[in-house]
Amino acid sequence: MKIAVIGAGIGGLSAAVGLQRTGAEVTVFERAPEVRAGGSALSIFANGLAAMETLGLREAFDAVTDSSVEGFAAGQRLADGRWIAQVPNDSVGALRIVDRADLHRILLDALAPGTVRTGTVATATGTDGTLTIRAGSADDSNTMESNAERFDLIIGADGLHSRVLTVVDGEPVAPRYSGYSAWRGITSVPVDLSGEAGESVGHGRRFGIAPLADGRVYWFAVANMPQNAVFANEKATIEQMFTGWHSPIAELIAATPAEEVRRTAISDLSRRLRHYHRDRVVLLGDAAHAMTPNLGQGGGQALEDAATLTVLLAPLIGKSPGPEAGRSASVPPDLAAALGRYDSLRRPRTQSIAQKSRLMGQVFQLESPLLARIRNAVFSAVPSRLIAAQAASVQKWSPPTV
Ligand SMILES: Cc1cc2nc3c(=O)[nH]c(=O)nc-3n(C[C@H](O)[C@H](O)[C@H](O)COP(=O)(O)OP(=O)(O)OC[C@H]3O[C@@H](n4cnc5c(N)ncnc54)[C@H](O)[C@@H]3O)c2cc1C
Repeated sequence: MKIAVIGAGIGGLSAAVGLQRTGAEVTVFERAPEVRAGGSALSIFANGLAAMETLGLREAFDAVTDSSVEGFAAGQRLADGRWIAQVPNDSVGALRIVDRADLHRILLDALAPGTVRTGTVATATGTDGTLTIRAGSADDSNTMESNAERFDLIIGADGLHSRVLTVVDGEPVAPRYSGYSAWRGITSVPVDLSGEAGESVGHGRRFGIAPLADGRVYWFAVANMPQNAVFANEKATIEQMFTGWHSPIAELIAATPAEEVRRTAISDLSRRLRHYHRDRVVLLGDAAHAMTPNLGQGGGQALEDAATLTVLLAPLIGKSPGPEAGRSASVPPDLAAALGRYDSLRRPRTQSIAQKSRLMGQVFQLESPLLARIRNAVFSAVPSRLIAAQAASVQKWSPPTV
């Protein structure tokens, strides 16, 4: 089976690893001149770890992460450091914090040399498996030469601004700005957290802390603002915004080089997709279900997508794709069935998590002092078994059986 993956993010690369290992002929097209991890770190919960296991990546992942974060006190604090809700340690299953650069390196190392073609824009022109391939990084250019290639399957892993999405859904879906943006950073040196991590909430502002295995700390700062806000100095802006917040927030920001502090406007998809596949084209990761990061699940869901697709396609790979393969939109029945099952397994779960994540963001980013006080009171009253049940509904996952 000849498979094209558009996009070398976490979703595209992990799908490529899984499918290549089952024997598929996989090419990943990435428009950036090199594969970029995008800086900062990522929380990977039990579901993401189970997906890594399915993809055969768990050992490599364990070598660059550890489980020490699971012993930290976590939950929600106020700006002055008082806890309003502490998540019982046993309610969150396994959790790892990984430097994105490490995760990308693991994924790339697991692929055969030459699998990823960087500096290449790939466009699915229809649903019959035809891909237009151009050198460069711009979506539309008449000046560059392009060539067309046929594949048995095209995987659209082209992220939040996916073009493949339009081919699958029939109509474009605009990203929807959440009303808040997030700065992220990793300290350049270890910082002592005194065994406490998690998020601290204020009025329209939030600060999150997560330790990496080597003692450095991944942090994020979230604030309500217009999508096009401009700051002369990003690091100085956060320092000022979080002045007076509990320790070690100021120390974490100070321990992060200014050029490593990056801001991202937080968006998700403005509506749910009606399908995740059409004929020979299938979506995964942010291209299918870009979500706000409030549950720390975008990457984990992309890994689940990749693992699910791998398991469902494995029995087909190596089988003769049939005389029409790559030449018409008519899809062999076993491929159609596998993609249909992928859609029914992935669409409800990912869309429900995206919705929960958006809701959490609205609650965390409340600006009104009165509403924030009510939120804090509700948080402190929630029984831990409810928190555990909520966490389990998102973080429990196992691969499909075929
Ligand atoms: C602030 C923040 C914090 C987050 N924290 C977490 C967390 O803790 N845990 C977690 O699990 N998730 C988290 N996420 C979400 C996670 O980062 C994303 O869900 C995940 O990275 C999406 O990966 P992807 O491969 O689907 O897409 P992307 O990473 O967007 O990759 C898409 C790739 O496709 C390429 N591309 C696009 N169009 C083309 C084309 N035509 N041809 C060739 N290449 C193309 C792009 O250049 C890009 O490299 C967070 C997100 C944000 C913004």
